[in-house]
Amino acid sequence: MRIGLKTNKEAFSENDSSRAAFCLLVRTWAFVILSPMFVITPLILLVRDPNRRKLKNVFLRVVLGIGKTVGWLMAVPVFLFLVIVTGTKYGQLNIENAARSNKQAVSVRPEQKEFIDVRGEIHVHSFLSWDSKGTFEEIAQAAKKNGIRWIILTDHIGQLPPGNYPDEVDNVLFIYGQERCHKIDGVDCGSDLRASLKDSERHLNLYGHIEKFRRSPNQQWERCDGIELVSLHGNGRTYLGKLLAKLFWAPEEVYPDLTVATRENLTYWQKLAELEQRPIPIFAAPDAHQNMGILGVHLDPYGFIFKMISTHIWIEKNEDLNQASIFRAIKLGRTYIAFDYLGDTTGFQFWAAENANCIRVELPRLTGKLKIFRDNTLIAEYQSAPSSVSVPMPLPGFWRVEVERDGKPWIVSGQILVK
Ligand SMILES: [Zn+2]
Repeated sequence: MRIGLKTNKEAFSENDSSRAAFCLLVRTWAFVILSPMFVITPLILLVRDPNRRKLKNVFLRVVLGIGKTVGWLMAVPVFLFLVIVTGTKYGQLNIENAARSNKQAVSVRPEQKEFIDVRGEIHVHSFLSWDSKGTFEEIAQAAKKNGIRWIILTDHIGQLPPGNYPDEVDNVLFIYGQERCHKIDGVDCGSDLRASLKDSERHLNLYGHIEKFRRSPNQQWERCDGIELVSLHGNGRTYLGKLLAKLFWAPEEVYPDLTVATRENLTYWQKLAELEQRPIPIFAAPDAHQNMGILGVHLDPYGFIFKMISTHIWIEKNEDLNQASIFRAIKLGRTYIAFDYLGDTTGFQFWAAENANCIRVELPRLTGKLKIFRDNTLIAEYQSAPSSVSVPMPLPGFWRVEVERDGKPWIVSGQILVK
Protein backbone atom coordinates (compact mmCIF):
# COMPACT_ATOMS: atom_id res chain seq x y z
CA MET A 1 0.00 0.00 0.00
CA ARG A 2 1.40 3.42 -0.90
CA ILE A 3 0.59 6.28 1.35
CA GLY A 4 0.33 9.95 0.66
CA LEU A 5 1.91 12.74 2.66
CA LYS A 6 -1.35 13.88 4.16
CA THR A 7 -2.55 11.14 6.42
CA ASN A 8 -5.17 12.37 8.78
CA LYS A 9 -6.32 15.83 7.90
CA GLU A 10 -10.05 15.35 7.48
CA ALA A 11 -10.51 13.52 10.71
CA PHE A 12 -10.42 16.49 13.01
CA SER A 13 -13.05 18.90 11.85
CA GLU A 14 -15.69 17.04 13.80
CA ASN A 15 -13.85 16.82 17.09
CA ASP A 16 -16.06 19.18 18.97
CA SER A 17 -19.29 17.80 17.59
CA SER A 18 -18.18 14.28 18.46
CA ARG A 19 -17.33 15.22 22.03
CA ALA A 20 -20.68 16.96 22.32
CA ALA A 21 -22.38 13.88 20.87
CA PHE A 22 -20.66 11.68 23.42
CA CYS A 23 -21.85 13.86 26.29
CA LEU A 24 -25.34 14.01 24.87
CA LEU A 25 -25.42 10.23 24.49
CA VAL A 26 -24.42 9.69 28.11
CA ARG A 27 -26.80 12.30 29.44
CA THR A 28 -29.70 11.04 27.37
CA TRP A 29 -29.04 7.51 28.52
CA ALA A 30 -28.96 8.62 32.14
CA PHE A 31 -32.12 10.65 31.75
CA VAL A 32 -34.22 8.21 29.71
CA ILE A 33 -33.30 5.04 31.56
CA LEU A 34 -32.75 6.24 35.08
CA SER A 35 -35.09 9.14 35.61
CA PRO A 36 -38.36 7.14 35.38
CA MET A 37 -37.11 4.97 38.20
CA PHE A 38 -37.42 7.92 40.53
CA VAL A 39 -41.11 8.09 39.65
CA ILE A 40 -42.01 4.48 38.94
CA THR A 41 -40.58 2.92 42.08
CA PRO A 42 -42.61 5.02 44.56
CA LEU A 43 -45.74 4.52 42.40
CA ILE A 44 -45.38 0.74 42.48
CA LEU A 45 -45.01 0.85 46.25
CA LEU A 46 -48.18 2.89 46.56
CA VAL A 47 -50.29 0.68 44.29
CA ARG A 48 -49.13 -2.62 45.74
CA ASP A 49 -49.74 -1.65 49.31
CA PRO A 50 -52.47 0.98 49.71
CA ASN A 51 -52.16 0.84 53.48
CA ARG A 52 -48.86 2.57 53.17
CA ARG A 53 -50.78 5.69 52.38
CA LYS A 54 -51.36 6.03 56.08
CA LEU A 55 -49.43 8.89 57.48
CA LYS A 56 -47.37 6.75 59.85
CA ASN A 57 -45.89 4.87 56.89
CA VAL A 58 -44.96 7.86 54.80
CA PHE A 59 -41.49 8.06 56.21
CA LEU A 60 -40.91 4.35 55.56
CA ARG A 61 -42.15 4.71 51.96
CA VAL A 62 -39.88 7.61 51.29
CA VAL A 63 -36.90 5.73 52.66
CA LEU A 64 -37.77 2.59 50.64
CA GLY A 65 -38.31 4.63 47.50
CA ILE A 66 -34.98 6.39 47.82
CA GLY A 67 -33.28 3.11 48.63
CA LYS A 68 -34.62 1.39 45.55
CA THR A 69 -33.85 4.34 43.32
CA VAL A 70 -30.30 4.60 44.56
CA GLY A 71 -29.98 0.84 44.07
CA TRP A 72 -31.05 1.13 40.45
CA LEU A 73 -28.81 4.14 39.91
CA MET A 74 -25.84 2.18 41.14
CA ALA A 75 -26.76 -1.09 39.45
CA VAL A 76 -26.78 0.11 35.87
CA PRO A 77 -23.38 1.82 35.74
CA VAL A 78 -21.84 -0.94 37.84
CA PHE A 79 -23.21 -3.49 35.38
CA LEU A 80 -21.83 -1.50 32.44
CA PHE A 81 -18.41 -1.28 33.98
CA LEU A 82 -18.45 -4.97 34.81
CA VAL A 83 -18.99 -5.55 31.10
CA ILE A 84 -15.95 -3.41 30.35
CA VAL A 85 -13.81 -5.00 33.00
CA THR A 86 -14.78 -8.61 32.36
CA GLY A 87 -14.40 -8.02 28.64
CA THR A 88 -10.70 -7.57 29.16
CA LYS A 89 -8.16 -10.34 28.97
CA TYR A 90 -4.69 -9.77 30.23
CA GLY A 91 -1.38 -11.07 29.03
CA GLN A 92 1.54 -10.04 26.86
CA LEU A 93 1.74 -8.68 23.32
CA ASN A 94 3.62 -10.56 20.69
CA ILE A 95 3.96 -9.67 17.05
CA GLU A 96 5.85 -11.64 14.44
CA ASN A 97 8.47 -9.85 12.46
CA ALA A 98 11.05 -10.70 9.87
CA ALA A 99 13.49 -7.98 10.90
CA ARG A 100 13.99 -9.11 14.48
CA SER A 101 17.71 -9.68 14.43
CA ASN A 102 18.75 -6.06 14.07
CA LYS A 103 18.17 -4.86 17.63
CA GLN A 104 18.58 -1.11 17.80
CA ALA A 105 19.84 0.72 20.82
CA VAL A 106 18.55 4.18 20.00
CA SER A 107 15.02 5.17 19.13
CA VAL A 108 15.79 8.32 17.22
CA ARG A 109 14.81 9.29 13.73
CA PRO A 110 17.96 9.82 11.69
CA GLU A 111 17.96 13.51 10.96
CA GLN A 112 19.10 13.16 7.38
CA LYS A 113 16.00 11.18 6.41
CA GLU A 114 12.48 12.33 5.69
CA PHE A 115 9.61 10.62 7.45
CA ILE A 116 5.87 10.38 7.06
CA ASP A 117 3.59 10.32 10.09
CA VAL A 118 1.07 7.48 9.80
CA ARG A 119 -1.65 6.99 12.35
CA GLY A 120 -2.72 3.49 13.40
CA GLU A 121 -4.18 1.34 16.16
CA ILE A 122 -2.63 -1.55 18.07
CA HIS A 123 -4.85 -3.79 20.25
CA VAL A 124 -8.27 -3.98 18.62
CA HIS A 125 -10.81 -6.80 18.87
CA SER A 126 -13.15 -8.10 16.20
CA PHE A 127 -15.76 -10.87 15.85
CA LEU A 128 -12.85 -13.32 16.03
CA SER A 129 -12.90 -12.68 19.80
CA TRP A 130 -15.57 -14.25 21.98
CA ASP A 131 -16.46 -10.87 23.43
CA SER A 132 -16.89 -8.78 20.30
CA LYS A 133 -19.14 -8.87 17.27
CA GLY A 134 -17.34 -6.11 15.37
CA THR A 135 -16.83 -6.81 11.68
CA PHE A 136 -13.73 -5.94 9.67
CA GLU A 137 -15.86 -3.50 7.68
CA GLU A 138 -17.02 -1.67 10.82
CA ILE A 139 -13.43 -1.42 12.03
CA ALA A 140 -12.20 -0.21 8.65
CA GLN A 141 -14.93 2.40 8.37
CA ALA A 142 -14.22 3.72 11.86
CA ALA A 143 -10.51 3.82 11.03
CA LYS A 144 -11.03 5.68 7.78
CA LYS A 145 -13.23 8.23 9.46
CA ASN A 146 -10.39 8.99 11.86
CA GLY A 147 -7.52 9.05 9.38
CA ILE A 148 -6.20 5.69 10.61
CA ARG A 149 -4.30 3.75 7.97
CA TRP A 150 -3.36 0.53 9.73
CA ILE A 151 -4.84 -1.73 12.41
CA ILE A 152 -3.23 -4.51 14.42
CA LEU A 153 -6.02 -6.82 15.55
CA THR A 154 -5.30 -8.75 18.74
CA ASP A 155 -8.17 -11.13 19.21
CA HIS A 156 -8.80 -13.56 22.04
CA ILE A 157 -7.94 -16.64 20.04
CA GLY A 158 -5.90 -19.72 20.77
CA GLN A 159 -3.41 -19.25 17.95
CA LEU A 160 -2.47 -16.77 15.31
CA PRO A 161 -5.07 -16.51 12.51
CA PRO A 162 -4.41 -18.84 9.57
CA GLY A 163 -3.69 -16.10 7.06
CA ASN A 164 -6.71 -16.20 4.80
CA TYR A 165 -8.10 -12.89 5.96
CA PRO A 166 -7.80 -9.77 3.81
CA ASP A 167 -4.63 -7.67 4.06
CA GLU A 168 -6.59 -4.58 3.37
CA VAL A 169 -10.21 -3.63 4.06
CA ASP A 170 -11.57 -0.47 2.51
CA ASN A 171 -8.03 0.84 2.04
CA VAL A 172 -7.05 0.23 5.68
CA LEU A 173 -4.17 -2.19 6.29
CA PHE A 174 -5.10 -5.10 8.58
CA ILE A 175 -2.56 -7.13 10.56
CA TYR A 176 -3.89 -10.13 12.47
CA GLY A 177 -2.81 -11.23 15.89
CA GLN A 178 -3.91 -12.57 19.21
CA GLU A 179 -4.13 -11.54 22.85
CA ARG A 180 -3.28 -14.11 25.46
CA CYS A 181 -3.45 -14.04 29.20
CA HIS A 182 0.02 -13.71 30.67
CA LYS A 183 0.25 -15.63 33.91
CA ILE A 184 3.10 -16.21 36.27
CA ASP A 185 2.51 -18.96 38.82
CA GLY A 186 -1.20 -18.75 38.05
CA VAL A 187 -1.35 -15.02 38.77
CA ASP A 188 -2.82 -12.74 36.13
CA CYS A 189 0.09 -10.46 35.26
CA GLY A 190 -0.60 -8.60 32.08
CA SER A 191 -1.59 -8.97 28.49
CA ASP A 192 -0.09 -11.02 25.73
CA LEU A 193 -0.89 -9.71 22.28
CA ARG A 194 0.78 -11.11 19.21
CA ALA A 195 0.24 -10.35 15.59
CA SER A 196 1.78 -12.13 12.68
CA LEU A 197 3.76 -11.38 9.66
CA LYS A 198 2.64 -14.03 7.25
CA ASP A 199 5.12 -16.77 6.40
CA SER A 200 7.51 -15.49 9.02
CA GLU A 201 8.84 -17.41 11.97
CA ARG A 202 9.76 -14.27 13.80
CA HIS A 203 7.65 -12.34 16.21
CA LEU A 204 7.18 -8.82 17.36
CA ASN A 205 6.40 -9.01 21.06
CA LEU A 206 4.41 -6.23 22.61
CA TYR A 207 3.37 -6.26 26.24
CA GLY A 208 -0.04 -4.99 27.15
CA HIS A 209 -1.87 -4.03 30.32
CA ILE A 210 1.36 -3.21 32.07
CA GLU A 211 -0.70 -1.93 35.00
CA LYS A 212 -1.27 -5.61 35.78
CA PHE A 213 2.36 -6.61 35.86
CA ARG A 214 3.29 -8.16 39.17
CA ARG A 215 6.51 -9.71 38.11
CA SER A 216 9.77 -9.08 39.89
CA PRO A 217 11.32 -5.78 38.83
CA ASN A 218 14.48 -7.63 37.82
CA GLN A 219 12.67 -10.04 35.54
CA GLN A 220 13.05 -8.88 31.97
CA TRP A 221 10.45 -9.34 29.30
CA GLU A 222 11.39 -11.90 26.77
CA ARG A 223 12.08 -10.10 23.49
CA CYS A 224 10.26 -6.95 24.47
CA ASP A 225 9.64 -4.87 21.38
CA GLY A 226 7.34 -2.39 23.03
CA ILE A 227 5.00 -1.77 25.92
CA GLU A 228 1.44 -0.54 26.16
CA LEU A 229 2.13 2.71 27.95
CA VAL A 230 -1.50 3.82 27.77
CA SER A 231 -4.48 1.50 27.95
CA LEU A 232 -8.05 2.72 27.89
CA HIS A 233 -9.16 -0.40 29.76
CA GLY A 234 -6.36 -0.07 32.29
CA ASN A 235 -7.21 3.55 32.95
CA GLY A 236 -10.89 2.67 33.13
CA ARG A 237 -10.06 0.28 35.95
CA THR A 238 -7.68 2.66 37.69
CA TYR A 239 -10.16 5.53 37.72
CA LEU A 240 -13.35 3.48 37.99
CA GLY A 241 -14.97 5.42 40.82
CA LYS A 242 -14.08 8.80 39.41
CA LEU A 243 -15.37 7.83 35.97
CA LEU A 244 -18.64 6.49 37.33
CA ALA A 245 -19.30 9.78 39.03
CA LYS A 246 -18.28 11.83 36.02
CA LEU A 247 -20.48 9.86 33.65
CA PHE A 248 -23.39 11.70 35.23
CA TRP A 249 -22.31 15.21 36.01
CA ALA A 250 -19.22 15.80 33.90
CA PRO A 251 -19.20 13.40 30.95
CA GLU A 252 -16.94 15.78 29.04
CA GLU A 253 -14.17 14.98 31.54
CA VAL A 254 -14.31 11.26 30.88
CA TYR A 255 -11.98 11.55 27.87
CA PRO A 256 -9.10 13.24 29.71
CA ASP A 257 -9.33 10.78 32.60
CA LEU A 258 -9.01 7.84 30.22
CA THR A 259 -6.43 9.28 27.86
CA VAL A 260 -3.46 9.64 30.14
CA ALA A 261 -0.14 7.88 30.74
CA THR A 262 -0.31 7.12 34.44
CA ARG A 263 2.57 7.95 36.76
CA GLU A 264 2.93 4.24 37.57
CA ASN A 265 3.25 3.30 33.90
CA LEU A 266 5.73 6.10 33.22
CA THR A 267 7.83 4.96 36.15
CA TYR A 268 7.71 1.36 35.00
CA TRP A 269 8.73 2.42 31.49
CA GLN A 270 11.73 4.36 32.79
CA LYS A 271 12.82 1.45 35.01
CA LEU A 272 12.59 -1.01 32.15
CA ALA A 273 14.62 1.31 29.90
CA GLU A 274 17.31 1.69 32.56
CA LEU A 275 17.36 -2.03 33.13
CA GLU A 276 17.81 -2.82 29.46
CA GLN A 277 19.86 0.31 28.72
CA ARG A 278 17.87 1.09 25.61
CA PRO A 279 14.81 3.13 24.75
CA ILE A 280 11.71 0.93 25.08
CA PRO A 281 9.23 1.54 22.24
CA ILE A 282 5.72 2.49 23.31
CA PHE A 283 2.20 2.32 21.95
CA ALA A 284 -1.29 3.15 23.13
CA ALA A 285 -4.12 0.63 23.25
CA PRO A 286 -7.71 1.45 22.43
CA ASP A 287 -8.51 -2.19 23.38
CA ALA A 288 -11.66 -1.58 21.38
CA HIS A 289 -14.32 -4.31 21.44
CA GLN A 290 -17.50 -2.40 20.52
CA ASN A 291 -19.30 -4.70 22.94
CA MET A 292 -20.97 -2.35 25.40
CA GLY A 293 -24.45 -1.21 24.71
CA ILE A 294 -27.98 -0.81 25.79
CA LEU A 295 -31.08 -1.33 23.63
CA GLY A 296 -28.94 -1.84 20.56
CA VAL A 297 -27.00 1.41 21.00
CA HIS A 298 -23.25 0.99 21.29
CA LEU A 299 -21.62 2.93 24.09
CA ASP A 300 -18.13 2.12 22.84
CA PRO A 301 -18.29 2.24 19.04
CA TYR A 302 -14.95 1.79 17.29
CA GLY A 303 -15.20 5.30 15.86
CA PHE A 304 -15.38 6.92 19.32
CA ILE A 305 -12.52 4.89 20.70
CA PHE A 306 -10.25 5.39 17.68
CA LYS A 307 -10.80 9.12 17.86
CA MET A 308 -9.60 9.24 21.45
CA ILE A 309 -6.32 7.41 21.21
CA SER A 310 -3.86 6.13 18.65
CA THR A 311 -0.27 5.21 17.96
CA HIS A 312 1.54 7.22 15.31
CA ILE A 313 4.52 5.79 13.52
CA TRP A 314 7.14 7.47 11.37
CA ILE A 315 8.02 5.56 8.27
CA GLU A 316 10.61 6.66 5.78
CA LYS A 317 9.25 8.70 2.94
CA ASN A 318 10.17 6.16 0.30
CA GLU A 319 8.88 3.14 2.18
CA ASP A 320 5.63 1.36 1.40
CA LEU A 321 3.14 1.09 4.20
CA ASN A 322 2.97 -2.63 4.93
CA GLN A 323 3.42 -5.05 7.80
CA ALA A 324 7.19 -5.00 7.53
CA SER A 325 7.51 -1.20 7.55
CA ILE A 326 5.04 -0.88 10.43
CA PHE A 327 6.86 -3.48 12.54
CA ARG A 328 10.21 -1.90 11.73
CA ALA A 329 9.01 1.54 12.81
CA ILE A 330 7.66 0.15 16.09
CA LYS A 331 10.86 -1.77 16.85
CA LEU A 332 13.03 1.23 16.14
CA GLY A 333 10.95 3.27 18.55
CA ARG A 334 9.62 5.52 15.81
CA THR A 335 6.28 5.82 17.53
CA TYR A 336 4.46 8.32 19.63
CA ILE A 337 1.13 8.27 21.41
CA ALA A 338 -1.55 10.79 20.55
CA PHE A 339 -4.92 11.63 22.03
CA ASP A 340 -6.17 12.79 18.70
CA TYR A 341 -9.57 14.01 19.83
CA LEU A 342 -7.78 17.19 20.94
CA GLY A 343 -6.50 17.91 17.45
CA ASP A 344 -4.33 16.79 14.57
CA THR A 345 -0.82 15.94 15.77
CA THR A 346 0.66 15.57 12.30
CA GLY A 347 3.93 17.48 12.20
CA PHE A 348 5.11 16.45 15.65
CA GLN A 349 8.73 15.29 15.55
CA PHE A 350 11.27 14.34 18.17
CA TRP A 351 14.81 13.31 17.40
CA ALA A 352 18.46 13.70 18.30
CA ALA A 353 21.48 14.44 16.24
CA GLU A 354 23.47 11.25 15.90
CA ASN A 355 26.45 12.68 17.75
CA ALA A 356 23.97 13.54 20.55
CA ASN A 357 24.94 17.22 20.67
CA CYS A 358 21.33 18.31 20.26
CA ILE A 359 17.77 17.06 20.81
CA ARG A 360 15.05 18.60 18.69
CA VAL A 361 11.28 18.83 19.10
CA GLU A 362 8.99 20.09 16.36
CA LEU A 363 5.42 20.86 17.32
CA PRO A 364 2.34 20.34 15.15
CA ARG A 365 0.59 23.30 13.59
CA LEU A 366 -1.77 23.29 16.57
CA THR A 367 0.57 23.87 19.44
CA GLY A 368 0.30 23.40 23.19
CA LYS A 369 2.25 23.24 26.41
CA LEU A 370 5.53 21.40 25.94
CA LYS A 371 7.19 19.52 28.77
CA ILE A 372 10.68 18.07 28.43
CA PHE A 373 11.79 15.25 30.73
CA ARG A 374 15.07 13.55 31.45
CA ASP A 375 14.86 10.27 33.36
CA ASN A 376 11.24 11.14 34.15
CA THR A 377 12.20 14.45 35.79
CA LEU A 378 10.75 17.64 34.34
CA ILE A 379 13.63 19.67 32.88
CA ALA A 380 11.85 22.41 30.96
CA GLU A 381 8.34 23.61 30.31
CA TYR A 382 7.00 25.96 27.62
CA GLN A 383 3.51 27.29 28.25
CA SER A 384 2.96 27.99 24.59
CA ALA A 385 5.79 26.31 22.79
CA PRO A 386 7.34 27.71 19.65
CA SER A 387 7.12 25.47 16.60
CA SER A 388 10.63 24.17 17.21
CA VAL A 389 12.62 23.66 20.42
CA SER A 390 16.22 22.50 20.77
CA VAL A 391 18.03 21.06 23.76
CA PRO A 392 21.75 21.66 23.11
CA MET A 393 24.35 19.34 24.62
CA PRO A 394 21.86 17.16 26.51
CA LEU A 395 23.10 15.33 29.57
CA PRO A 396 23.12 11.53 29.53
CA GLY A 397 19.81 9.84 30.28
CA PHE A 398 16.46 8.97 28.77
CA TRP A 399 14.83 12.01 27.24
CA ARG A 400 11.19 12.33 26.32
CA VAL A 401 8.55 15.02 25.85
CA GLU A 402 4.86 15.49 26.47
CA VAL A 403 2.57 18.06 24.93
CA GLU A 404 -0.65 19.21 26.56
CA ARG A 405 -3.49 20.99 24.85
CA ASP A 406 -6.39 22.69 26.62
CA GLY A 407 -4.79 21.49 29.85
CA LYS A 408 -5.11 17.84 28.83
CA PRO A 409 -2.52 15.27 27.71
CA TRP A 410 -2.22 15.32 23.92
CA ILE A 411 1.11 13.82 22.83
CA VAL A 412 3.51 11.43 24.58
CA SER A 413 6.79 10.89 22.76
CA GLY A 414 9.05 7.86 22.85
CA GLN A 415 12.44 7.93 24.55
CA ILE A 416 15.81 9.05 23.27
CA LEU A 417 18.81 7.63 25.07
CA VAL A 418 21.78 9.93 25.32
CA LYS A 419 24.84 7.94 26.33
ZN1 LIG B 1 -7.78 -6.64 24.60
